[in-house]
Amino acid sequence: MIILDNVVKTYSTGSPALDGISMHVAKGEFVFIMGESGSGKSTLIKLLTKELSPTSGKIIVNNTDLSKLKHRNIPKFRRSVGCVFQDFRLLKDRNVYENVAFAQLVIQKSAKEIRRNVPAMLSIVNLAEKYKSFPRELSGGEQQRVAIARALVNEPPILLCDEPTGNLDPRNSWEIMKLLEEINEGGTTVVVVTHNSEIVNAMQKRVITMKRGMIVSDEQRGGYIYED
Ligand code: ADP
Ligand code: MG
Repeated sequence: MIILDNVVKTYSTGSPALDGISMHVAKGEFVFIMGESGSGKSTLIKLLTKELSPTSGKIIVNNTDLSKLKHRNIPKFRRSVGCVFQDFRLLKDRNVYENVAFAQLVIQKSAKEIRRNVPAMLSIVNLAEKYKSFPRELSGGEQQRVAIARALVNEPPILLCDEPTGNLDPRNSWEIMKLLEEINEGGTTVVVVTHNSEIVNAMQKRVITMKRGMIVSDEQRGGYIYED
């Protein structure tokens, strides 16, 4: 599903943000990516969505070699990769239903399909009753569940999450991680960048740890290894 081969990313300003990253993520895997601030985690996520291009190295996502992806095919490629961020990024003047429906409108789903798919997705994230609420009327955990529904309503095979629980309290963080686990059990490949070592240790999934732009460990069913 995801292949990186010796990927380097140097921003114009300085030393490499990613310094020779190679990794494989198979279809249906759940992977945590950990590492201190500045270690290159968000850069890695942005390369996977082609928001950024690597300085060198090869990236394949969902059978697409990103270096060969034509400009006009980028929107279609992006639909195969759902994204969730720390700050939710919802449309503030649209209600829950409209936020999720928007993703379907963009890909020109019919009104009939939207009326079927959006409520179905909202019940998966347990927000069926709040479909008329606006983001400001929701808790952080609820807003993140809307963002997850929006990311998944078009059924991408991959979901990328960059610190999805970074703004949430422990209870909501657990709820979101459990939801991501359920989504993964439904067949979606899930990659989660997080600092939450308590949850990572408890969930016993694959853990890739980064440091200064390099992968320093990759553990199946791992926990986070503390360092001084
Ligand atoms: P993380 O998400 O692990 O905190 P990032 O990928 O955001 O790390 O950043 C990795 C390194 O790249 C940091 O040193 C950061 O300062 C640098 N960096 C990130 N984005 C940019 C940018 N747009 N321009 C220049 N340097 C950047
Ligand atoms: Mg980051």
